[in-house]
Amino acid sequence: SQSTAVALEDPISPPIQVNYTKLFINGQFVDSASGKTFPTLDPRTGEVIANVAEGDTEDINRAVKAARKAFDGGPWPRMTGYERSKILLRFADLIEKHNDEIAALETWDNGKPYEQSAHGEIPMVTRLFRYYAGWADKIHGIIVPADSPHHVQVLHEPIGVAGQIIPWNFPLLMFAWKVGPALACGNTIVLKTAEQTPLSALLVSKLLHEAGLPDGVLNVVSGYGPTAGAALASHMDVDKLAFTGSTATGHIIMELAARSNLKPVTLELGGKSPMIVMDDADIDQAVELAHFALFFNQGQCCCAGSRTFVHERIYDEFVEKAKARALKRVVGDPFKKGVEQGPQIDEDQFNKILHFIKSGVHSGATLVSGGERLGDRGYFVKPTVFADVQDGMEIAKEEIFGPVQSILKFKDLNEVIRRSNDSHYGLAAGVFTKSLDTANTLTRALRVGTVWINCFDVFDAGIPFGGYKMSGHGRDKGIDSLKNYLQIKAVVTHLKNPAW
Ligand code: NAD
Repeated sequence: SQSTAVALEDPISPPIQVNYTKLFINGQFVDSASGKTFPTLDPRTGEVIANVAEGDTEDINRAVKAARKAFDGGPWPRMTGYERSKILLRFADLIEKHNDEIAALETWDNGKPYEQSAHGEIPMVTRLFRYYAGWADKIHGIIVPADSPHHVQVLHEPIGVAGQIIPWNFPLLMFAWKVGPALACGNTIVLKTAEQTPLSALLVSKLLHEAGLPDGVLNVVSGYGPTAGAALASHMDVDKLAFTGSTATGHIIMELAARSNLKPVTLELGGKSPMIVMDDADIDQAVELAHFALFFNQGQCCCAGSRTFVHERIYDEFVEKAKARALKRVVGDPFKKGVEQGPQIDEDQFNKILHFIKSGVHSGATLVSGGERLGDRGYFVKPTVFADVQDGMEIAKEEIFGPVQSILKFKDLNEVIRRSNDSHYGLAAGVFTKSLDTANTLTRALRVGTVWINCFDVFDAGIPFGGYKMSGHGRDKGIDSLKNYLQIKAVVTHLKNPAW
């Protein structure tokens, strides 16, 4: 099977330099305490982009100390919401001004198409900071009527020092999902980026300080999970922990939080989201949407529509068209115009995806397109489609996190509801139908945090995102994300003269 390959042989030089590779602690770029560095790689070639300071326990301790000081005595939690809002708005303007440079860095470090970075993700980062700037002066408590002569206030206060651990699939978007609400609420932060993609967060941290963020409010530590990440999750002076990544690591994070200071944890983890195509659907549109739902971002989305359930009446036609669409997908150098799919993030993920493809073939699924690497350099995988996938197969149960679509057949609504919900995960679902009744039934029956009806991957700043079951708990974005970063204080005042 063929896929369209573009410019793999001669990688385009990114039009930027890497200026920031040190840890960002207390408003300064500093070396790691150990002096160690680690390489961050270009996934197009596997070559080193830059060596980055490698944070470990001692660096996390330094960063938490700075964040603690900035919280306990610094101006950020004490200034007015309006002042915080203005700084966040200035930051958004700076991201917008440097959009193309940030987008190029993101694409270089991650491998995602430059057009996606420059016209989708980085503008979305700007949008998110404007959204949270809008909240900064609108966060307030309530007055509760009392049963006795008392005046009862409920105050909403910042929670303190927030620890945040983010993944590599949307490096700067995940930065914005986490940092935006924490700053709007007046917290200070220690953020650990993913070891695969440390660069963009360092660049924008510099811009955030240019916008007026006081020193120590945001500290960024690059480094590995079991060292820097674990030190942050188990720190006794971190008041809250937010994590996005794999379910396996989510287990570890909660355990570290439980064993240390019982800090509250929010988790956004993996998924095996159903994309349900009913027999009343326009097949061409459904094929395109299901293709996008799975292949977007090289298949590296926690909410990827990775179980494509198609009604038996349209199944064969759907599979033929899904195959044709996958073969047309343009894979290649993400800096090249028109490329839809770049390389996978790294060798580990690349090997894991190839393992799942083998597993699909061995378990008896029908390989209809792709099924192997593209080229002999970097981490490119051909857009792969499996038909005749059964629920019990590994490819139908495990999160593949790559460009591998599994198409399953169903007969009726109750059956597809039962099979969709038969998963430890519950992150998202797509529904494609013309029937309002079918859409409503599925919406109510599916045990997932997001249902997209006749659309997929719509991520406005105000839409809450998060999982049911082992896809995690807590919500990113929207008004619900603020709750992760607030403490609640009840204030009860005796009334001497209750008549007034
Ligand atoms: P991961 O969960 O191990 O990594 C995510 C973040 O957690 C990174 O910053 C990492 O350094 C950190 N981390 C890892 N181990 C840690 C530990 N013991 N303590 C504290 N922090 C730790 O994910 P991965 O290994 O990069 O990818 C593996 C799989 O995870 C993927 O194949 C995919 O299925 C899933 N994943 C999901 C998401 C998502 O958005 N939900 C993102 C990335 C990966």
